[in-house]
Amino acid sequence: MPTYPSPAAVKLSALLLGTTLLLSPISVSAKFNPLDCVPAVSAPSPLSQERQEWLTYRDICSQLTELGFSSQACALLYTRLGPQLAQQLEEGQWSLSQLTFLSLPNCRLEYLDRYQTYALDHPEFSPLEAVVQVNLGLDRPFYQDPIVLSDPADPLVLVNKYSALPADYVPELTALKPRYGIGSLTPQAAQSFVQMADAARADGISLRSVSAYRSYSYQEQLYQRYVAESGQALADTFSARPGHSEHQTGLALDINTASSRAHFEDTAEYAWLQEHCAQFGFVLRYPEGKQEITGYRFEPWHYRYVGVEVAQVCTQLGLTYDEYLAYQAVPGSYALPLGPLAESGPDCQESVFLRV
Ligand SMILES: [Zn+2]
Repeated sequence: MPTYPSPAAVKLSALLLGTTLLLSPISVSAKFNPLDCVPAVSAPSPLSQERQEWLTYRDICSQLTELGFSSQACALLYTRLGPQLAQQLEEGQWSLSQLTFLSLPNCRLEYLDRYQTYALDHPEFSPLEAVVQVNLGLDRPFYQDPIVLSDPADPLVLVNKYSALPADYVPELTALKPRYGIGSLTPQAAQSFVQMADAARADGISLRSVSAYRSYSYQEQLYQRYVAESGQALADTFSARPGHSEHQTGLALDINTASSRAHFEDTAEYAWLQEHCAQFGFVLRYPEGKQEITGYRFEPWHYRYVGVEVAQVCTQLGLTYDEYLAYQAVPGSYALPLGPLAESGPDCQESVFLRV
């Protein structure tokens, strides 16, 4: 006999999880697994004031259990679709495939058709993998119908080949002192870079910015120059189109070099950054082996400030920032806990990680 949480308990636990992660640092152990973040559920009281809602919920869970969904999946589906789900199930409004996607914690309702199309085209992927791929945008070519970000000053903004900054966006900037190299960053990113460079110096490591904030028009010139030199297809693998450069956020910088010929990845400076950059809120934004996700070849020198908590999760799980956000249900809110909370639909595989 499955146990059912009360609808209020489900809503509360989802809210608490989000709030907890927003307000307190995430403690990430080496064994952290996003699949472990299952919202807590508690047994309802049939005598509570919400008895009618509880009865509706029990009816919904009964129907979903018959379809093979776990109690966890029932809770997520109810949280997402509400009490009208009872009638929708009776009327056959949702297919099993749609319900499976909707039962995944990082499902985005507006992408439901894309999940289905992607899953049909890629039967080798589990439903969760299909959701992550589509959340990443990888069911579409880079630069196809990119969105222009409405909140470019969000310190957790995602700028990539699917989302662009407005051409006139200029962040609040602080110039780095010459001993830290050249350029400007947002005040928070600048302060964190200075702290990181000071800590590195104490270890005998020199970190200097060679390029930080870049304006839209400067990036446009840079990109056009690379296109003229190398052709657009090649230029796109190492240079961002204007509006799509993280450097315009004031949150990203190139450290010590910006040339692959320098082999920065073979230096003690790079090794130090791999060990310590997350402690200061920075992530390696374009790692080796992730070109199909980021759209950029390995850039060992390019770091993005995302804050300590997010940087530590990304680093310890080996996720690019794009992937980290693809595990969130609401892009831009960043309020939901990281990760696929559970692979909760019927016939789902345990494996969640990407095969791109
Ligand atoms: Zn860069």
